[in-house]
Amino acid sequence: MRFAGRVALVTGAGSGIGEAAAVRFGAEGAAVAAADLSETAAAATAERVRKAGGRAIALTADVSQDTDCRRLVAQTLAQLGALDILVNNAGIGAVGTVLETDEATFQKVMDVNVRGTFLLSKAALPSMIARKAGVIVNTASIAGVRGIPERAAYTASKHAIVGLTRAMALDHVRDGVRVNCICPGTVDTPWVGRLLDQAADPPAARAALVARQPMGRLGRAEEMAAAILFLASDESSFTTGTAMLVDGGFTA
Ligand code: NAD
Repeated sequence: MRFAGRVALVTGAGSGIGEAAAVRFGAEGAAVAAADLSETAAAATAERVRKAGGRAIALTADVSQDTDCRRLVAQTLAQLGALDILVNNAGIGAVGTVLETDEATFQKVMDVNVRGTFLLSKAALPSMIARKAGVIVNTASIAGVRGIPERAAYTASKHAIVGLTRAMALDHVRDGVRVNCICPGTVDTPWVGRLLDQAADPPAARAALVARQPMGRLGRAEEMAAAILFLASDESSFTTGTAMLVDGGFTA
């Protein structure tokens, strides 16, 4: 029960990595604000947390919108009484080189992944600084430390998240706020399922994804949740500004 008495706001909590993190936070004693663009997905995750014995509320928001981000923080504070942990996990992808990516797609990816992380952190920090305590964990990617072919916008956005993580960590290290990010490799979530569904030969595409993994398998959402919870817990009290690779050796 590492998080007994703590409140965690998790974005993108309706699916995949965010859902796994929200459920585990609840199982380890946190009160969880499960936020997602999808109202039904957020509600389903909050229900899972409650069934696992935790306290949870479901919030609907588009993290690329400032008013939504400020409302998320206000609702969390009003309904759960505090905001100890923020997990900026909501994200979207886009396939393509710079030449293949139109400006609107580039903007959309930057708006959700980078602007969302910026806006929600900006909304959450004052309450953390006021109490001289808080933790932010961002979900970056191996695309935050490596160039990934045909993922120009996504790679740019995830590098920006790593940069923002490091800058915020230094800016707020004396405020009692730690800021870190995880860099997942390929993780078997609905996100990857959707990508594979679009492939000409989904089983062959999955086999190709697995073949490039040193461990011979994709990551699991629960393995990403474990890293997020470590960085959110007091066990990582001397860790700030780090980009933690959780990639089964992909970048080794
Ligand atoms: P997912 O698609 O299963 O879940 C993402 C969730 O985010 C969805 O429920 C979606 O509704 C929500 N979301 C999307 N846009 C939003 C917005 N504007 N506001 C609020 N919520 C929004 O994806 P996942 O695989 O769990 O990915 C979660 C994070 O992990 C993303 O930031 C992604 O870039 C990152 N990541 C995933 C992988 C992977 O292989 N799955 C690898 C590296 C990094």
